[in-house]
Amino acid sequence: SREYPQVPQVACFDTAFHRDLPRVAKLLPIPRRYDAEGIQRYGFHGLSYEYIASVLPKVAPGIAGGRVIVAHLGSGASLCALRSGKSIDSTFGFTALDGLCMGTRPGALDPGVILYLLQTLRLSASDVETMLYKQSGLLGISGLSNDMRDLLKSSEPPAQLAVDYFVYRAAREIGALAAVLGGIDALVFTAGIGENSAEIRARISTASAWLGIDLDPEANLSGGPRISRQDSRVSAWVIPTNEELMIARHLSLLLGLG
Ligand code: AMP
Repeated sequence: SREYPQVPQVACFDTAFHRDLPRVAKLLPIPRRYDAEGIQRYGFHGLSYEYIASVLPKVAPGIAGGRVIVAHLGSGASLCALRSGKSIDSTFGFTALDGLCMGTRPGALDPGVILYLLQTLRLSASDVETMLYKQSGLLGISGLSNDMRDLLKSSEPPAQLAVDYFVYRAAREIGALAAVLGGIDALVFTAGIGENSAEIRARISTASAWLGIDLDPEANLSGGPRISRQDSRVSAWVIPTNEELMIARHLSLLLGLG
């Protein structure tokens, strides 16, 4: 901004799409005095979910106004519960450490573990931070890689355990958000793993079959967009995300270009 003071600076917050979450979804059950510090659940991957919500009326008009769980499964991974295209909850909270197991982040973790690491094992706060952001998740469990492709190719038991845990955790949180939505009409997969791994989609869909998802294996292998059978009570989809386009759309609106 010093070199080009005339160029407008715009920030697109990855939390903005979740700003109207119901009060209980935003709440963290700690003393209310911390509200003033901004300690609440925000949710992230908002640009991705906003993009998906924006294309649903075109790609999947039958479900755009319904109850949809979007699974953004990439290096970072989270779920969003959409009702009529609006976010009503997500698995991310105050930071992008919450929720699902990710490439190098653990997702939701009993806070007692952090206390134990700090107080009993005497790790420093910065060691714990490094562990939580860089050494956990798929990498931490497998001891091999944070990349789902490497783990799917590997026959090493720790690599398979990491994949098992990733799927287990996603299916568990899909169940939780289905409860928030009072049942679902559709499940949408997106981001690196969600868009490219038929195997992970199949495993998560199978674990979520109780919700009424009946996967079409051939459609899943060919990448969709619809990957559930025609008579599946709950439909499943693959929709590529586009966070950069979402940012461009916001900019163009803001700068009066569009
Ligand atoms: P993203 O953060 O959305 O770019 O996703 C990156 C992640 O997607 C990588 O770390 C890979 O683990 C995963 N990924 C990309 N392609 C594939 C694939 N064909 N099969 C499984 N995982 C994939």
